[in-house]
Amino acid sequence: MKRALITGITGQDGAYLAKMLLEKGYEVYGLVARRSNCNYWRLNYLGIEHEVELIYGDVTDQPSLITALHKAKPDEVYNLAAQSFVATSWEQPVLTSKVTALGVLNMLEALRMTNSGIRFYQASTSEMFGLIKEEIQCENTPFHPRSPYGVSKLYGHWISVNYRESFGMYTCNGILFNHESPLRGIEFVTRKVTDGVARIKHEWQKELRLGNIDAKRDWGYAGDYVEAMWLMLQQDVPEDFVIATGRTTSVRDMCKIAFEHVGLNYKDYVVIDPKFYRPAEVDILIGNPTKAREKLKWTAKTTLEELIVMMVEADLERVANEKKK
Ligand code: NDP
Ligand code: GDP
Repeated sequence: MKRALITGITGQDGAYLAKMLLEKGYEVYGLVARRSNCNYWRLNYLGIEHEVELIYGDVTDQPSLITALHKAKPDEVYNLAAQSFVATSWEQPVLTSKVTALGVLNMLEALRMTNSGIRFYQASTSEMFGLIKEEIQCENTPFHPRSPYGVSKLYGHWISVNYRESFGMYTCNGILFNHESPLRGIEFVTRKVTDGVARIKHEWQKELRLGNIDAKRDWGYAGDYVEAMWLMLQQDVPEDFVIATGRTTSVRDMCKIAFEHVGLNYKDYVVIDPKFYRPAEVDILIGNPTKAREKLKWTAKTTLEELIVMMVEADLERVANEKKK
């Protein structure tokens, strides 16, 4: 039986990845940062809270990572822990760098001290492309991050490449484009919209305040994307891969899909609020997943329409349940 350690297991991807690895017969360990409130709602939602072994630790605290590696004795480590919200990265740039950049180095060094043969996945991101240098971004597209988050992730990306080249470690960067689900954090735009649609439909909210709705993203379904993470660590040779759908859509058109699903017109509810504009914006992202398709035999299965409908339906149910209380 293979063993995996997931940092960020309480987040969106961590929960889906844990469920998928359990289904593949893995023994799954998760690193959880100590919070004043339990934050296991996603593991609960997927019905796996008691199937995974949780270990307290923090990626900014290297001894805790070494302890976790000793306890879990993993074959594979998936480093998903991050301060992952772009907007917050301007408000807490130092924290973002400590967690999202140096956290990666802490884990790589912990691996080197315990067992450098453990396979390592790093959660890289399309945010590293930022001010895009090519119309469609692939593994060789130059980077130009636009936020402290993007800059931190770029450090994590290159330090993982460097440990592969310096020490022959098995490290892979998954350059994942935006991926969403009913488990997405409420602060991200897709979930903010689907939750807003549900609240407006249930007459709990009158309007939805958003920032730059002309921004475009290549959105996929998180449940599809975690499969790609696992596939990367099953290859003979460690490499980096872009994971994307190859289609880009504006926030405006995504709103249209979500509101239309409940028979409403987004124009009647969306209010532009400059409070949600960013100091520097990533206007458009669109990924080329050819390498993943050819080498990993991976493709995105879920369309944006299917994804948004899935999210709206889940939020309608949540709001209905809240109303009953
Ligand atoms: P989430 O924000 O949902 O999850 C982040 C996780 O990291 C949470 O479990 C959080 O714990 C944990 N965490 C935060 N700080 C620390 C710390 N100091 N020590 C240990 N754990 C910590 O992100 P996603 O699941 O959406 O994304 C997973 C990874 O993939 C992240 O690294 C993200 O940056 C990256 N990524 C995500 C994309 C997306 O579209 N979703 C796109 C590309 C990359 P807690 O719950 O306690 O806060
Ligand atoms: P990101 O790509 O990781 O920054 O994911 P987000 O979901 O946070 O944002 C995607 C895009 O939506 C960005 O270009 C934001 O500027 C834009 N956007 C527009 N309005 C909002 C909003 O109210 N909240 C968020 N989070 N993003 C918004």
